[in-house]
Amino acid sequence: MRRETLFLYCWLAVSLPTNGQQTVEAGKAVVLVEADSAGGRFGFLRIPLPAVNDTGRGGLWRLVTGHADANSGGVGCLSDGRIPLHADDPGSNFFLTAGMADGLLALDLQKSVSISEVVSYSWHAGGRAAQVYTLYGATGDESGFTFPESVADLPGLTGWTQIAVVDSRQPGTQGGQHAVRLAGENGLLGNFRHLLFHVRSADPGDRFGQTFFSEIDVVTGNPAELRRVELPAVRELSFGTADNRYEFSVETTQSQELEEWTELELKPVIVEWYPRIVRMLPGAGFEPPRRVRFRYLPDAEMQGVPAYAAGSVISLNREWFRGELQGEARGCVVHEMVHVVQQYPARGRRLRDGAAVPGWLVEGIPDYIRWFVYEPKSGGASLSAERRRVSQHDASYRVSANFLDWVIRSQPADAGILWQLNAAAREGRYSPELWQTLTGKSEQQLAEAWRAE
Ligand SMILES: [Zn+2]
Repeated sequence: MRRETLFLYCWLAVSLPTNGQQTVEAGKAVVLVEADSAGGRFGFLRIPLPAVNDTGRGGLWRLVTGHADANSGGVGCLSDGRIPLHADDPGSNFFLTAGMADGLLALDLQKSVSISEVVSYSWHAGGRAAQVYTLYGATGDESGFTFPESVADLPGLTGWTQIAVVDSRQPGTQGGQHAVRLAGENGLLGNFRHLLFHVRSADPGDRFGQTFFSEIDVVTGNPAELRRVELPAVRELSFGTADNRYEFSVETTQSQELEEWTELELKPVIVEWYPRIVRMLPGAGFEPPRRVRFRYLPDAEMQGVPAYAAGSVISLNREWFRGELQGEARGCVVHEMVHVVQQYPARGRRLRDGAAVPGWLVEGIPDYIRWFVYEPKSGGASLSAERRRVSQHDASYRVSANFLDWVIRSQPADAGILWQLNAAAREGRYSPELWQTLTGKSEQQLAEAWRAE
């Protein structure tokens, strides 16, 4: 498995459109959106963690229209000063019930206060991470002030100021942690007693597109003076190779039961095999990552995937590993370490003059090293002659590993097929013609000969 590291960060200075109604005053807020789709732990670069003693904490939340999902933690989650511990933690979030396109969420601060910031946080592994809402504020003393009873009342809303229109969706990405900070241009967002959030589904095409809101802070005064949520202490094992060339860490914060196995069984595999993989896959001027990080995450956050590599971080599915300690666990880590050493150009990035590296090769090389070099005795990727006859060499994973093994064995030992294929892929100059260059036969000829063997 391979997943791109996604980190999105942008400034949006939003000058808000008036909605054509005289009755709602358009405000002006500086909107900062931070979205980190790779986050395994709550945190952002610019926006601090939620506060535990912000002014919102003393307010009363009320759902004016819409229903909280029965699995959600309800509106109380929004200012309880606690955050979810992982990306799929419904009880620690507020979200509308399935199928609901929008809802109106009100916060009564009990008296008018000078608000400097409103910060909303969300976290989900899929399409429910992004935030889409419009925020209004009022003191309640405005002439013509009325409380809307439904979304239908919004166009004619009187006495409210529209503070901001928020949409933190990032094209082409899903899942992760989002934080949206609304700040006044001069440190003052406005004087309000009532805040009204018109929250909309982040993914209207999906019945389950309602945002997982983790916390909404309302800040008066200096945000730097607030007390912030404390994350549980990180637990990790750190070690390196004897020559100090490579350093590794395995985070076990969410899987302390795996610490002993990691120390006794996994660590030796990492220390021995990462440098070996590096030596197997050299390239001119290539410097492999010298620090590799591993972390165990809950199955819900891994979305059922056993493991994946992104950059030099390898995420491991806690539940899957628990069940595979005597089975596939070590070999799976070897496969992922190959991805770290591959360091192929990100999909979509312009390549020098080669074609995009086909997915079957991206996965075939790690499975080749795993099944034919690391654990050849397991026979995990062997194919009977009958199976092979009806197999496709580009079927990825074990089948492609079997094909690579056959090609490598059919050539002289010093032909360097593996490293040359990999170096071409890494350097953006892979093309199907490479097979001809390396072996004297085309990819199709090789595939046919492999099938017939
Ligand atoms: Zn993989």
